[in-house]
Amino acid sequence: MTFDAIVVGSGMSGGWAAKELAERGLKVLVLERGKSLEHGADYTDGLSPWELHQYGMVSENEADAEYPVQSQCYAFSAATKHLWVKDSDHPYTTPPDRPFLWIRGYHLGGRSIMWARQSYRMSEMDFEANKKDGHGVDWPIRYADMASWYDHVETFAGISGEANGLDHLPDGKFLPPMALTPPEAEFGRKVEAAFPTRRLITGRCAHLTAPTKEHEELGRSACQYRSLCERGCSFGAYFSSLSATLPAAQRTKNVTIVTDAIVHSVVQDPKTGKATGVRVIDRNTKAGRTYDARMVFLCASTLGTAQVMLNSRSAEDPRGIANRSDQVGRNLIDHLSGLGASGIYPGHADIYHRGRRPNGFYIPRYRNVTEPADGYVRGYGFQGRILRDGWQRGMSEAGVGADLKARLRKPGPWRVSLSGFGEMLPRPENRITLSETNTDKWGIPVPHIDVSLGPNEHAMIAQVGSDARAMLELAGCTDIEVRKHYGGVGLGIHEMGTARMGHDPNTSVVNRYNQAHDVPNLFVTDGASMSSSGCQNPSLTYMALSARAAHHAAAFLKEGKI
Ligand SMILES: Cc1cc2nc3c(=O)[nH]c(=O)nc-3n(C[C@H](O)[C@H](O)[C@H](O)COP(=O)(O)OP(=O)(O)OC[C@H]3O[C@@H](n4cnc5c(N)ncnc54)[C@H](O)[C@@H]3O)c2cc1C
Ligand code: SF4
Repeated sequence: MTFDAIVVGSGMSGGWAAKELAERGLKVLVLERGKSLEHGADYTDGLSPWELHQYGMVSENEADAEYPVQSQCYAFSAATKHLWVKDSDHPYTTPPDRPFLWIRGYHLGGRSIMWARQSYRMSEMDFEANKKDGHGVDWPIRYADMASWYDHVETFAGISGEANGLDHLPDGKFLPPMALTPPEAEFGRKVEAAFPTRRLITGRCAHLTAPTKEHEELGRSACQYRSLCERGCSFGAYFSSLSATLPAAQRTKNVTIVTDAIVHSVVQDPKTGKATGVRVIDRNTKAGRTYDARMVFLCASTLGTAQVMLNSRSAEDPRGIANRSDQVGRNLIDHLSGLGASGIYPGHADIYHRGRRPNGFYIPRYRNVTEPADGYVRGYGFQGRILRDGWQRGMSEAGVGADLKARLRKPGPWRVSLSGFGEMLPRPENRITLSETNTDKWGIPVPHIDVSLGPNEHAMIAQVGSDARAMLELAGCTDIEVRKHYGGVGLGIHEMGTARMGHDPNTSVVNRYNQAHDVPNLFVTDGASMSSSGCQNPSLTYMALSARAAHHAAAFLKEGKI
């Protein structure tokens, strides 16, 4: 059978591509390299701490031997271990002095199951940035091309937030916002008084604070404020492929989902230059097979998509499919992360925060927007929260016996944490390539990832820490600790850029519709297509790009253009 479209990957981007294509009447095959995951049944959100293996802890021996990279992610635990790849099974290499932490999950739904759900639009300023300061290539789209698609994906996904009227962080179609804690609101007033153009807003997150009929029809219900989200949510209260896009795609009866299907490469017809389907290796049996389709959507995540493209070599495209520009795999970006400061926030000893709000506050970018920067372009935003320390603080406090127990029965102080997320510049030398000699256990060449920070990133890192300290000091915080140590490229978990969008086929891989310049029926709609990253969490933009590209691709197919 020939499908109308094959979608490679079932995560954040693949879920949207499948839904939008299927809703336009196309017969869609979704291929997912990982295992099947059943919404609800395969989550661990219903388990109490004492029901978790080793009370939720993974032994150091196991983490070091099998999950040395994944275990560095805050969301890795015994409750979520089944959602992360075993690094020992999925090798990649880096230069010894330039580690890259590739955080990933291979299963139905991809990382849409484990994500932290912060959802922000990019703005006109972000889409213009490359053109204005000359880094990377000009985006062939602007905010006006994306606005209605952001509306579309936000309405369906369900994003809670508040309209703040900021040009550089456009408002969206929001469900009611989650409340700030009283110290957070007070901290916001102090920051805004001292720095009149900075704002502290409630985080915008993909949680149903007031589900609509459309959400309820998919079996989703309101968030219960349990903060167990990375285990999967049986209420479907946060957006994921499993709670939302894949069930919506399946109800059209136009979608076939095949798991354990590792896409090895895209098959290309040497006469027409078009993609005719994909080669797949069965994860369990290692048997090869081919699926045919009229078009192919690559949504295997930024590095996964680049891996498939680079491995799709032919006499016509010896460097990989759609790679005449030699830009596939290059310009790899992540967000600078792990930087910022924390401290004890004064006062409010008579109150306690209520519930476990799965969200915090956000201080949108102000450097190179309303305030100058210390010798670099672009900027950063801060995610943060101010919550009261609970008894768990005892794990890292010195003490023993009755005194310790008595102390831990009382709530601790309010603690503020500010985490900066900074924009990295696209640079062609930051890239993923494939080994010529080593293959994984499925015979696929092992990726080599080589990324380093440039002077712009180093200058930015210094100011993230000093800004965070200054804001905590003015608020009267004590015990301030500045995190100057950059966690490592990859730990931002916002990889982007390996098949960038651009006007010129000589310098970019896809056009304004996420359509490969060289192969008209091949679309790349995940983070690989990002020409720059902004400093906002990027997944909402992948969703909007995927929905937009699917809309145009379906029309091109109908009109006989591809
Ligand atoms: C702990 C954590 C917190 C995060 N927090 C946020 C946040 O707050 N906000 C935000 O915007 N983003 C966040 N992210 C990032 C977000 O999860 C990713 O940006 C997003 O999931 C990427 O979507 P994707 O479709 O490109 O990739 P994924 O969601 O990773 O999906 C890719 C899928 O493709 C499959 N695949 C890969 N290769 C192949 C192949 N060869 N053949 C077949 N299938 C393949 C994979 O198994 C996977 O299922 C977070 C991520 C993590 C892990
Ligand atoms: S906090 Fe909300 S979204 Fe997260 S697990 Fe609980 S109910 Fe689900």
